[in-house]
Amino acid sequence: MPIYNKKTLSRLLNGELSWKELKPIIGGKKDPERFDMVLEILQEKVPWNETILIPLHEHLFVVSKDNKRIVKCECGYEFGDYKENWKKKCRIRVRDTEDDIGDLYPKYMGCDPEWEELREFYCPSCFTLLDTETVPPGYPVIFNFLPDIDTFYEKWLGKDAPDR
Ligand SMILES: [Zn+2]
Repeated sequence: MPIYNKKTLSRLLNGELSWKELKPIIGGKKDPERFDMVLEILQEKVPWNETILIPLHEHLFVVSKDNKRIVKCECGYEFGDYKENWKKKCRIRVRDTEDDIGDLYPKYMGCDPEWEELREFYCPSCFTLLDTETVPPGYPVIFNFLPDIDTFYEKWLGKDAPDR
C-alpha cells in the first residue's frame, strides 16, 4: 500500500511537503502507479490537451501531437521534435561581461568572462527561465537529455507509451 495519495504527490510537485513527509516517499519503494499519478496531476495543471508522455524539465514536457513527439512548455509554446535541442528555440541571454555577471555575483565572486560565460534560456512565449549553463565562451549549446521514451515505458512501467 503506497504511503502517499494523489493529494500528497500534488503537494510534492509543488514543493509543499515537509522533510518529514517527503523522506519516506523518496526513500521508499518506487511503484509504477506513482508515475501514472504524477502524469495525471501534471496533465490537469497544464492549459492544453496533448497527452504528456514524460515531464522533461521543469515547465517542459514531451507530449504526443499528431503522431509526433514534441517538447511543449507549460504555457503551450511548442519547441518541436523532442530529439532536437529545445534550448536552440529559446530566447538566450548570454552574460559575458563583468557588468552582466556583476548583476548576479559580488565583485571577485563571479566567473572571469574571458574564461566562462553564463547562458540563460527563456521560453520565447512566456519568458520563464527554463535553464542556465556555465560554459567556456564559444562552447556548443549543451543538449541536456534525450529520453528513451519507449524503453522507459516498456522496461520500467511494463506497458507501451500512450501514443504507441
Ligand atoms: Zn513557456
